[in-house]
Amino acid sequence: MTKQIKIGSVTVGGGAPVAIQSMCNTNTADVEATVEQIHRLEEAGCQIVRVAVPDQAAAAAVGRIRSRIHVPLVADIHFDYKLALQCVDSGIDKIRINPGNIGAEDRVKAVADACRKNDIPIRIGVNGGSLEKPLLRKYGGVTAEALVESAFGHVALLNKFDFDDICISVKCSSVPVTIRAYQLLHERCSYPLHLGVTEAGTPKQGVVKSAMGIGGLLCLGIGDTFRVTLTADPVEEIGVAKDILKAAGLRREGVNLIACPTCGRTKIDLIPIAEEVERRLADCRKTLTVAVMGCVVNGPGEAAAADVGIAGGNGEGLVFRKGEVLRKVPQEKLVDALMEEIERL
Ligand code: SF4
Repeated sequence: MTKQIKIGSVTVGGGAPVAIQSMCNTNTADVEATVEQIHRLEEAGCQIVRVAVPDQAAAAAVGRIRSRIHVPLVADIHFDYKLALQCVDSGIDKIRINPGNIGAEDRVKAVADACRKNDIPIRIGVNGGSLEKPLLRKYGGVTAEALVESAFGHVALLNKFDFDDICISVKCSSVPVTIRAYQLLHERCSYPLHLGVTEAGTPKQGVVKSAMGIGGLLCLGIGDTFRVTLTADPVEEIGVAKDILKAAGLRREGVNLIACPTCGRTKIDLIPIAEEVERRLADCRKTLTVAVMGCVVNGPGEAAAADVGIAGGNGEGLVFRKGEVLRKVPQEKLVDALMEEIERL
């Protein structure tokens, strides 16, 4: 079991539900745009949100942003410890900073002291793209061992100043290296782990890489919080994150849609039907498994575990519940009939 930390109102680690994070891609100094994006992320189900704090203008905006949002806010800081101190003063909920990058030890101590005094955890976020040169030389490139050694170097610096309110990430763009690095961390420490595959790419590539890397680790019981990284509107990351949690069996709220791949037995145009069902259930908060199957021969049986479903026939289809047929409906009324059934549940 990992150590538990509190990021504002959200508990991470120690068996708490795995929390979904995202990061704004607005200019942090533009408070209106950033708050607007955070509200959309909240609406989508994001539980912790991070903003980049590259300069004084961004740090000055943190307090105003935080006062207008409902989820904990994390400041992403590189190098400048003064920006970290300023964010602490503005009431930030967590800081992402790598203490090895901020210079003299008195600066590390200043950040550790300020965070300890205010119960603010620090995420050590090691990234394959910015690994220390001596480690790259020692390991001959970005390896799992190099990422982990870098993380432990930063941890040791914080521990030296009696700071232990830590979570760790070791992200890189290679899925196998990322998985191995988190496995090593899981074996060697009990700090909560923030999962992610960095620079995962556009949604087409990024969803696969994140599902493999993050989803694979979650299935092994590794990971306490995560961010799906997509080259897209960050709101898209949240839908993918929820699907990963559902597929890993860690979240049941919302609809789990089962749809058959269709085959030579399919006598209806199932693909647009499945897409319509998915669209119409996108905001459904009921905890349900819904099946959309291509034929009446195998459909209800194959989807016996579903709470409710439809199975296509020749110009008509069946509505069923828990594998039991309820009624026959013409094809064009099938989706409406399914929605009515879901309304009743
Ligand atoms: S449910 Fe029917 S149509 Fe769909 S894959 Fe199975 S056999 Fe084929």
